[in-house]
Order: sequence, then C-alpha cells, then structure tokens
Amino acid sequence: MHELSLAQGIIDVIREQAATQSFARVRRVRLQIGALSHVEPESIAFCFDAACRDTVAEGARLEIERPPGQAYCLACAATVTIAARPDPCPRCGGHQLMVVGGDELRVLELEVD
Ligand SMILES: [Zn+2]
Repeated sequence: MHELSLAQGIIDVIREQAATQSFARVRRVRLQIGALSHVEPESIAFCFDAACRDTVAEGARLEIERPPGQAYCLACAATVTIAARPDPCPRCGGHQLMVVGGDELRVLELEVD
C-alpha cells in the first residue's frame, strides 16, 4: 500500500497545481522515480490510475523516468553508478558509499489543458 499513498500524494500535488494555475485537465504526467527509491514504477502506474479517478488527472498519460542510482565512493573519491542499495562500489568493491542521486520521487512535468 506504500505505492498507493505515494500515488495519492502525487494526485495531491497535481490538485494543488490545478487550483493555483487553474487548469481543468491533465493530459500527461511525467514522474521521476529513481532506481534507489524503493518504488516500483509498475505499481505506481497501477495505483495512479486508481487514484486519479474523478480528479483533474483522470485519463492522464503517465510517463516515468528512471534515473540510475548514483553514489559517492569515499575510497575512490568518485561518483559511481549503482543498481541497488546496498550494492558495493563497482570500481573498488568497497561499501563506503553515500547515495547522491537516484532516490528521488517527484513530478517533473505536467501537460495540461
Ligand atoms: Zn570505490
């Protein structure tokens, strides 16, 4: 049910925007869901469809960007790409990694009428 509350949170953001920017319909929603965000894009898409019923976002097309996980390795002093947390550093195999990207979940763009 984690994804359902996230989808509802996204709808809340869209509703606020609809109120302040006075649009009546959302055609397209672009989301950014980082690879490290613990969120399954498929579940979000499924829950989004349910959550947007009877809202300005009903029938909106959902596009999901999935940026890779980025971490800073203290041993290499470099930023590396990791597929999941807690993967080791792909360069040195070390575990002293600080996640610096790829854990975001946000609305990037709305296409509205
Ligand atoms: Zn390293």
